[in-house]
Amino acid sequence: MDRKQAEKERPRYAIMGGTFDPIHFGHLAAAETVREVLQCEKVIFIPSGNPPHKTNRVLTQAQRRYAMTVAAIENNPYFEVSDIEIYRNGYTYTLDTFNELEAYFENKVELLFITGADALLEVETWYKAEELLKRCSFAAVTRPGYDKSKLEQKLHELQSKYGSSLFIVDVPGLNISSTDIRDRIKRGSSIKYLVPESIEQYI
Ligand code: ATP
Ligand code: MG
Repeated sequence: MDRKQAEKERPRYAIMGGTFDPIHFGHLAAAETVREVLQCEKVIFIPSGNPPHKTNRVLTQAQRRYAMTVAAIENNPYFEVSDIEIYRNGYTYTLDTFNELEAYFENKVELLFITGADALLEVETWYKAEELLKRCSFAAVTRPGYDKSKLEQKLHELQSKYGSSLFIVDVPGLNISSTDIRDRIKRGSSIKYLVPESIEQYI
């Protein structure tokens, strides 16, 4: 049985990583769409600890971002949250998370990483990207402001370079970002309908 065939036999769990500072409907809609389109048994949200690419600003405390993520997914039975990255010392790398999850699930599930278009376009700058791209599957979701044709081009490039298992998933375009939400909060503007009510209250 080759790898692709073997993948089909195992249940698929999607991993939604992010800083979630704060989590918003863009994240939730992307996760739900991937779950349905790519038939994932569940989606595990993994708030990052100390991501190497976000050293330019002070992040909200990991425990708070984790707590908001827990609150945001509460009414979706397919969604879970993991704290494996927030308690890791030093920088957190996706490859370490992948290895930890593979060991935890004893290789019995196929792990599929959900990344937004912006994230997939720069995935080759990630820690040990080649190994990561060879070993795990990715679902790249469309995101307003990022050209889908560039995403397709990247997908073909990564497939031929690393034999990666990649999918592009069209999600309803929600032009929401945590950066914009943080700016609104600073200005005292409303964040209603951009984040779940529980997050609005938490903030
Ligand atoms: P920030 O502005 O702080 O970077 P963000 O809104 O981009 O926040 P992240 O926590 O950086 O949120 O994103 C986690 C993952 O979710 C990334 O893969 C990102 O591309 C994806 N993502 C975030 N917002 C959207 C959106 N509106 N539509 C599709 N994907 C998204
Ligand atoms: Mg981002």
